[in-house]
Order: sequence, then C-alpha cells, then structure tokens
Amino acid sequence: MPRRPTRRRPPVSGRPVNERIETRGSTEWHVRALAGSDKSYRCPGCHQAIHPGAGHLLIWPVHKSLLSAEAIDERRHWHTSCWQRRL
Ligand SMILES: [Zn+2]
Repeated sequence: MPRRPTRRRPPVSGRPVNERIETRGSTEWHVRALAGSDKSYRCPGCHQAIHPGAGHLLIWPVHKSLLSAEAIDERRHWHTSCWQRRL
C-alpha cells in the first residue's frame, strides 16, 4: 500500500491553527481547537448540538481506519468538555 502523509490538514480560513496530538488508549488523534463555525454539529460525546459560533474541537485520527480513504474523512466535531471527559 502506498504511504500517505498522515499530517494532511483540511483547509483553514487564514487563522493560526491551534492543533495538537492526543492519545486515547492506543489511538492517536489530531485535536484542533476551532473558534466556532457558521454551522451547527452533533457532538458524538453527548449527542447534543454544537451551536454555530460556539468554540469546540475538531478531532480526527492520526491513522485512518480501514473503512475510510483518508483519516480526515473520519473527523468529528466535539464539545471541548465532552472530549476532555472522554479521557
Ligand atoms: Zn458534547
């Protein structure tokens, strides 16, 4: 299988990126802090809405699962507190 760069980033709108890598169990995740977007998302931690404009986290795996073409395809929007509670 061809090696792909694992650090690929989705486009960001000119803002400095606040991103780090966190480990949960045996999995490494990209964790990007977002200042808020104009869409609302469903948080997989609490299944509640993340409202437009609310600061939250964008999470995606460093190593993609077998089911997706790219790790970034597995990205999810989380409430900051929900992701931290998942420790
Ligand atoms: Zn949540």
